[in-house]
Amino acid sequence: MSSQNTEVKPTNFIRNIINKDLSSGKHLGVKTRFPPEPNGYLHIGHAKSICLNFGTAKNYEGYCNLRFDDTNPSKEDIEYVNSIKKDIEWLGFNWDGEVKFSSNYFDKFFLCAEELISKGLAYVCFLTADEIRTFRGTLKKPGKNSPYREASIEENLSIFRKMKAGKFKEGECVLRAKIDMSSSFMCMRDPILYRIRFETHHQTSDVWCIYPMYDFAHCIGDAIEGVTHSICTLEFQDNRRIYDWTLENLNDFNTIDRPHQFEFSRLNLEYATISKRKLKLLVDNNHVNGWNDPRMPTISGLRRRGYTAASIKDFCERIGVSKVNSLTDISILESSIRDDLNNSAPRSMAVINPIKLIIENYPEGEIESIQAPVHPQNEEMGTREIFFSREIYIDKEDFIEVMPNNKYKRLAINKEVRLRYSYIIKATHFDTGKDGSVKTVYCTYDENTLGKNPSDGRKVKGVIHYVESSKAISAEFRIYDRLFLESNPAKFDDLSSSINPNSLEIKNGFIEPNLSTAKAEKTYQFEREGYFCRDSGSDGLVFNKTVGLRDTWNS
Ligand code: ATP
Ligand code: MG
Repeated sequence: MSSQNTEVKPTNFIRNIINKDLSSGKHLGVKTRFPPEPNGYLHIGHAKSICLNFGTAKNYEGYCNLRFDDTNPSKEDIEYVNSIKKDIEWLGFNWDGEVKFSSNYFDKFFLCAEELISKGLAYVCFLTADEIRTFRGTLKKPGKNSPYREASIEENLSIFRKMKAGKFKEGECVLRAKIDMSSSFMCMRDPILYRIRFETHHQTSDVWCIYPMYDFAHCIGDAIEGVTHSICTLEFQDNRRIYDWTLENLNDFNTIDRPHQFEFSRLNLEYATISKRKLKLLVDNNHVNGWNDPRMPTISGLRRRGYTAASIKDFCERIGVSKVNSLTDISILESSIRDDLNNSAPRSMAVINPIKLIIENYPEGEIESIQAPVHPQNEEMGTREIFFSREIYIDKEDFIEVMPNNKYKRLAINKEVRLRYSYIIKATHFDTGKDGSVKTVYCTYDENTLGKNPSDGRKVKGVIHYVESSKAISAEFRIYDRLFLESNPAKFDDLSSSINPNSLEIKNGFIEPNLSTAKAEKTYQFEREGYFCRDSGSDGLVFNKTVGLRDTWNS
C-alpha cells in the first residue's frame, strides 16, 4: 500500500483491490464510472453507488465518468437524462469531461460484434424468444445448441448487416455470442448481444434499429473510456463472466490494464422501495405527486423534503460498502439529516394546530419586539425579531383543562408556563367552539419575567412556543409518514396493498413573520415540532416536515 493511500478514508474491499492494483503496477491511476440507465429518477440506492464511484475516484485523485447506459430506447427519456445530471451535481460530484452515452459508441459496438462474428464467436439466431428460453435449459439441465449456431461466418456477417439495415422485423432474430450451452452459469449459454428495436432513440434518433445488450455494451464502453475498476451491484456477479469473455475476445481491449468488474451489495431501505420500475409505478398510478414527491426515496424527493447533500453523503459513509445484502434501518438515514440540521438549521417558531390565547392583563393595542437567537448554541448566527402582544397563537396540544399529573409541563388552568423567549403566563379560563373543542384560552402574564425568572423564587418548568397573532403569517404544513406499512415492501410485487393511506397530513397554522421570505429548500427547526423545509414545488408558504427532533420510529 503506498503512503498516499493509507491516508484514505475508512477502508473497504474495493479500496483494498485498488491498492493492490496500484502497487502491482497493473493500473497507474484510478478511473471509475457511474452508469445510470435514463429510465427514471435517481434514488438513494444510486446515491450509494455515486458516493462509491465518484468518492473512490476522488480519494485516489483519479477520475469518474458519467455514462448514460442508453441501450434500451423504449424506456428512456431525455427528462431522465437531465434530472440525473442535476441530482449528481447537487450531491456535489463532478464527472470527468463531457457527459458520456453508451450510444456514443454504437459504431464501435457494431464493429466489435462483427469482429466476434468473424472469429466464429457470434451468430444470428432466428429462434423465437420462447424457443431461446427452452433451448437454454435450467440450472439442473444443460441447454441445447441453436440450429443457427453452425451457419458460416460469411452468412452470419451478411445477415447481421441486414439486421442493421432494417431488413428484419422486431423479434425476428438476435445476435448471440457462441459460448457454451452447458455452462453452469446460465448467462454464458449463448447470451444475446444485439436485438432489433424500431424506436426513435433520444440521442441517435432513427439511425439504428439494432441495439446492443447491457452485458455486451457495458464492458466495451468501460474499455473505450479507460475505466480501471467497474463497480456494480451484486446481481451482476455471474455476468462478470460475459464482461471478461467479451473483452478477452476483442483485439483492441484484451490488454493487461483492461477494466475489471467488482460487485458490492445494493442498498435496500426499510419502508421504501428503491427500484426505478416500482417508483415509476407509484408516480404513474398517482400514489405520489411525481418523482420528487417528498415521500419518495429519490434524490429529488429527499431534497424537496429537506435532506441536504451532506446528510445523504454522510448516510452513505455510515452504511459502508460490503458484499452482504441487507435491509438498512431508515433511522440511520434520519439520524444523518438530524445531525446535520441540529447544527445548521436556524430556529423558528411555528404553530401547527393553532388555538388563540388572550392575555387579559396585557394592554390592548400594544406590541413588543423581542430579539431571539437564531441558534441558541451558535451566537454567530445572530438574532431574529419576534413579537409579543395581548393575542397570540399556541398549539392545541400545549393546553389541557385539568393537569393530568404533577409532571405535566404545558399549560393548564391555574398553571404557569413560560412562552419561549418571553413572559411567564398563567391560564385562567377558556372558551369552546360548537364542537366542544377548546377555541380560546384566557391568561394573565407576569410582566417582570421577560427573559428572567420570577423574583419571588417560584419555579416555572414548562416552556411552550407561540406566534404573536397580528404579525403571524398563515402557512401550510405537510407532515409525512412512511409511504409503506410494510418494512420490506420490495417483497410484494403489487405495492399498492402495502401503501400507507395516511402518509401525508396537511395542517394550516402560523409561522413567525420573518419566515415569509424563507427560500425554497431552506430548512428550519420549528422549536419543539421538528425540522421543516420550505417546499420548492409550491408558490405559497408551504413547509415540508423533514424529520422529527427525536427518533420516534422505535418508540
Ligand atoms: P433500478 O432497479 O432502480 O432501475 P438499476 O440498477 O437498474 O436500478 P441503473 O440506472 O442501471 O439502475 O443504475 C446505475 C448504477 O447504480 C448501477 O451501477 C447500479 O448498480 C447502481 N445502483 C442501482 N440501484 C442501487 C442500489 N439500490 N444500491 C446501490 N447501487 C445501486
Ligand atoms: Mg438498470
